[in-house]
Amino acid sequence: MSMESVQSVLGNRVVAAIRSVTGPEPVPLHEPQFRGNEWVYLKECLDSTFVSSVGRFVDRFEAELADYTGARYAVAVVNGTAALHIALKLAGVLADDEVLIPALTFVATANAVTYCGAIPHFVDSAASTMGPDAVKLRDYLVECTEQRAGQCVNRASGRVIRALVPMHVFGHPVDIDGLLAVARDFNLAVVEDAAESLGSFYHGQHTGTFGQMGTLSFNGNKTITTGGGGAILTSNTELARHAKHLTTTAKLPHAWEYRHDEVGYNYRMPNLNAALGCAQIEQLSAMLAAKRELYECYREAFAHVEGIKLISEPEECLSNYWLQALLLDIGLEDERDAILHATNEAGLMTRPVWILLHELASFTSCPRMDLSEAQSLAQRLINIPSSAGLI
Ligand SMILES: *Cc1c(COP(=O)(O)O)cnc(C)c1O
Repeated sequence: MSMESVQSVLGNRVVAAIRSVTGPEPVPLHEPQFRGNEWVYLKECLDSTFVSSVGRFVDRFEAELADYTGARYAVAVVNGTAALHIALKLAGVLADDEVLIPALTFVATANAVTYCGAIPHFVDSAASTMGPDAVKLRDYLVECTEQRAGQCVNRASGRVIRALVPMHVFGHPVDIDGLLAVARDFNLAVVEDAAESLGSFYHGQHTGTFGQMGTLSFNGNKTITTGGGGAILTSNTELARHAKHLTTTAKLPHAWEYRHDEVGYNYRMPNLNAALGCAQIEQLSAMLAAKRELYECYREAFAHVEGIKLISEPEECLSNYWLQALLLDIGLEDERDAILHATNEAGLMTRPVWILLHELASFTSCPRMDLSEAQSLAQRLINIPSSAGLI
């Protein structure tokens, strides 16, 4: 049999398996779902004229996020990238520092580091979670860094490695205990990029609440959406206050005076977006249940497709199953593109995972450890249609 026909055989099997779950119609990768009070709350914004930086929905959305995640505070901002930028800044990341981030993440993680004037330092993934590998990271830091005056210094570059950013890939919690221990032992601040993991829990605790700060995204393709939006989670009162201050132009409260006591940012989430968020969060449990059910259906559909594994939540974790993912067996990397072609031609939107960040032009000169597991995963992962509305 030729390679060509072998590839299309597997491609056709994947198409059939997805269709057995989604039906014959074309399906996008991830669609938002508006089945609740969206119209009511948006109308209330318009009728009240409070569409922008004043209004009750921002406070309400923040309180509901804090309540749901168990963080003491949530600060709503314009998007997840801005949330990361401010969280890193408040974690003490300075110009010319290095920040450890996974190579296997969305570009926003690295961009936010760069906005601080700092340099991303790429970490390999663990096969079990797809997130940063705590064991490998520890060995690497033992070898390549030294402690100077309580700071972790990269011997090769002479720069301080200030922070570590775990990212919960596709909503699957990382080995946070392992990573927190590494951070403690090497004096690193921890900011969790939980953009993809609203509704995901590690040993019963919500992701994004383990580090000093965690960040969420409510972009249109995330589990719930505010159009564009994000939030900073923290249980530290001073960090929460400062996050709010920095994201609202650092203006001191006063009836008429415009006095700003530092260079702030206009990152506040508008009331219109928060109104959408309040309606969406009311439907979060239903969406999570639908996503889990979709996972169960896919699991059945792919149980007998040889060479392909459907990604499941790590042990003792509850994943939100934001994006469903297939992992090709080692040795079948060459089939990935044939499967992408077959599925997209059939109207089923699938895509590979992000190009590893150290391969992007902006980041090729950044420091990195051996990235062999991330490289292997990147060649073998395929995301398949994941909308809650498919169920
Ligand atoms: C979506 C996402 C973000 C933030 O994205 P915004 O579009 O700025 O809200 C950050 N990191 C990861 C890993 C993401 O998936």
